[in-house]
Amino acid sequence: MPIIPVHARAIFFDAVGTLLFPEPSAPAVYADTARRYGLQLAPGEVRSRFVAAYRVEEAADVATSWATSEARERERWHRIVTQTLTGVSDPEACYRDLFDHFALPAAWRVAPDAAEVLTALQSRGLMLGMGSNYDARLWPVLGGFPELAARLDHVVISAAVGVRKPGGGFFREVTRVANCALNEVLFVGDDLENDYTGATAAGMHAVLLDPRADHAHIPHRITDLGELLH
Ligand SMILES: [Mg+2]
Repeated sequence: MPIIPVHARAIFFDAVGTLLFPEPSAPAVYADTARRYGLQLAPGEVRSRFVAAYRVEEAADVATSWATSEARERERWHRIVTQTLTGVSDPEACYRDLFDHFALPAAWRVAPDAAEVLTALQSRGLMLGMGSNYDARLWPVLGGFPELAARLDHVVISAAVGVRKPGGGFFREVTRVANCALNEVLFVGDDLENDYTGATAAGMHAVLLDPRADHAHIPHRITDLGELLH
């Protein structure tokens, strides 16, 4: 079976971990910020604190059926930063520094094969979009990558929709924006629950980007974006 369903009219991509990657890595940036505010943390310690804080926020989102907003995203990142960097001299300044950092194009890199793959998909007549659980900071980031932004017909951001992935309302908004039926959209992302399971449960087709082959049991799976062209 082809990886792109024959009746697909649109392909929407997740942003972070699929088309965009923090560079340097988030734990490295957090550790550097901590150091500037008087706290030495080993990268492994940053990562484990971050993951624990992140999970608490995920559980909070389950309780609200994946509701989100710009205010909710600021609250999320405020709590994740202050929990991860407990012990710094000025937690509020750390939060502001990190929040602002990830709004900068210079904090990100685009997947090396993204522009080539998107161009090839566009030449097949497919509508292309981005469907992200990020917030309004995605706009200035995309502004720094015209080779990516120019190939996207639509960008859907959960904080503006009011529902985040994996909530079904997010995927329904994608189809509304794309003016497609659910089964005419293929969603491509690196997160099993948010992207693959969420899109599939909503009635879309989905492909999991799984570069380390962590989820070999998933039927529709690629290890790099170029496989979409096969
Ligand atoms: Mg992702």
